[in-house]
Amino acid sequence: MSSDQQIDLIHRFLFDDSDLRGELVTLEQSFQQAASPQNLPKVFLPLYGEFMAAAALVADMLKFEGTITLQARSNGPLPLIMAEANSKGHVRGFAQVDEQQSLVQSDSNELLPLAALLGGGVLSITIDPDKGKRYQGIVPLDGADLAECLQHYFSQSEQLPTYFKLFANENKAGGIFLQCLPAQLVKDEEQREENWQTARHLASTTKAEEALDLDHPTLLYRLYHELQCRVFPPKQLSFRCHCSKERSANAIKTLGEVELQALIDEQGKVDMSCQFCGSNYHFDKTQLEGFKKELGKRH
Ligand SMILES: [Zn+2]
Repeated sequence: MSSDQQIDLIHRFLFDDSDLRGELVTLEQSFQQAASPQNLPKVFLPLYGEFMAAAALVADMLKFEGTITLQARSNGPLPLIMAEANSKGHVRGFAQVDEQQSLVQSDSNELLPLAALLGGGVLSITIDPDKGKRYQGIVPLDGADLAECLQHYFSQSEQLPTYFKLFANENKAGGIFLQCLPAQLVKDEEQREENWQTARHLASTTKAEEALDLDHPTLLYRLYHELQCRVFPPKQLSFRCHCSKERSANAIKTLGEVELQALIDEQGKVDMSCQFCGSNYHFDKTQLEGFKKELGKRH
């Protein structure tokens, strides 16, 4: 089994005889590349991985052109953690660590309970289509894990029974998504419910090592060979940051003439570092004065 063909992929699947759809994702290189600039203590890597896998699943399940962001804020050791995925299969993330909290020193590489990592937190789900209006939903992070919170949110917002299961260790992340579709093939309510419960139950039996190490067609066969599961060609996922010198310049220009002048007087330069990928963008005094002139001309 050549591993580089199995990782960093998302597969969609459908069941031919029932109104159910699903997705299976595994991230390895993209997760590691997204985690590396963050220099996270080991204990936070599995959660970071779950966020990446969840973002990839949600971006794909919504079938739209654009970007989705999952962002959690809490009083826990991670005051902020976010993962972003877009319809092109690009993922990136960011996490802020509160160095004062004792968990930072932990040697554990297991996923800790959500309450320990993001205690009292809220999760925001932002859907930002390339064309159209940005939409944001917010859920309390009071589930046992991230998957449960997402499940709750999407079951309500999409009004369709939805299931998520996420897996991660310090190197890999993965996840399964299942959703009951509106009645088309099966009209009988009891039969629909039975199909849903069966598919869901089988997904819930997946072990972390299966989800993270098996290629998707093998895992889907193992889970669903009796259910006429049809697997579509996968989409490749990769770590990609969308920052650029131009975007940083635009951010500086939003300060306005007065503040920009103050910045020139006080510091004479600006260094901006991208929180997602760690790239540094330097602007010297001449460049900053150029921005100021440009702003002046806009009046
Ligand atoms: Zn960047």
